[in-house]
Amino acid sequence: MDGLDAVRTPSSWVVVGLDNGGTCNNATVLDATGRYLVDRLVENPSRVQDGPESAVESLAQAFEDILELTRTPLSLVRAVGLDTPGPASADGVISSKGSTNFSQVSWHGFDIRGALEARLGLPVVYLNDANAAALFAHNRHFGTDSANRSSVAAIVGTGLGGGVVVDGKVVSGAAGMAGELGHVQIPLHGVLEDDQPLPLCNCGFTGDVESIASLTGIKKNLLPYWLPRFPDHPLAAEPIDRAAKLLRGYGEKEDPLALAVFGQQAKAIGSLFTIAANFTDPDAYFLGGGVVEAAPHFRQWFLNTVREHTQLRREQQAAAAFALVPDLDMAGARGAAVAALDSVAVV
Ligand SMILES: [Zn+2]
Repeated sequence: MDGLDAVRTPSSWVVVGLDNGGTCNNATVLDATGRYLVDRLVENPSRVQDGPESAVESLAQAFEDILELTRTPLSLVRAVGLDTPGPASADGVISSKGSTNFSQVSWHGFDIRGALEARLGLPVVYLNDANAAALFAHNRHFGTDSANRSSVAAIVGTGLGGGVVVDGKVVSGAAGMAGELGHVQIPLHGVLEDDQPLPLCNCGFTGDVESIASLTGIKKNLLPYWLPRFPDHPLAAEPIDRAAKLLRGYGEKEDPLALAVFGQQAKAIGSLFTIAANFTDPDAYFLGGGVVEAAPHFRQWFLNTVREHTQLRREQQAAAAFALVPDLDMAGARGAAVAALDSVAVV
């Protein structure tokens, strides 16, 4: 246990949040007063590679373990929030083509939300992991005023995930595909150099946000352009995968190559937020992902650069906030728990 407050016992009814990842599940408990009973990562193996049956059993195990850890009787649990990596429908049916984490044929079109609901005998609400992180950022930032506020979150990782929250609710869309911010195409003028090739995304689009603002974008599009312009750079001797991962460390040391690459990423996210400003005119723009774990001066520079390249009207500038998404490793489970709490509150 990490400290006296690491685990609490509930003082009211609760909801449980379960975050399903490629290797681990992370679990949390949120009580009706909005208090988390766990302030650290509580993980178990997710066994998604063993197929749906094992994975649902692992989620049930995570659920039982977190109740035991927090000394929460099962009778106090009103609902469960579950998040997984996408793509999946708004109701938690994994894409019929599978995905990186759910590659086995038995996963294709599998209703993970329904299966967990049947296994636990409790209502389960579903979000994709980026939407869960967006919802957590929103609730943490606005607290009791969450239901009256709107926000947009961009989470930079291997890809670019995100979420759109309006009046405290995640916008999921007709097919569950709203908030796929990585695949929004942006104006490239002012983002790319004049002689820079158009960046390609794995989704097939040219010049969308993920093709620039993601680890994949660094590897496939940005480093191949920038590295030959810095032939003596130590990263020029590294394989491209490794170079892409090491780049952030150079950014923290204000290395010109790294700043050129991350500067382009920040401009791309600024372009995305400019589009968001004209769509939902949110109260807050959140930025998350690996950059949040970087040295404070570097992440602040990155956030400032995003802000500089987000074109807001004067009224919007006065009304909107820019902030980093905190506690990213717990954001999925916590966001899923918030969604579960909201689902109970409206009943
Ligand atoms: Zn794309």
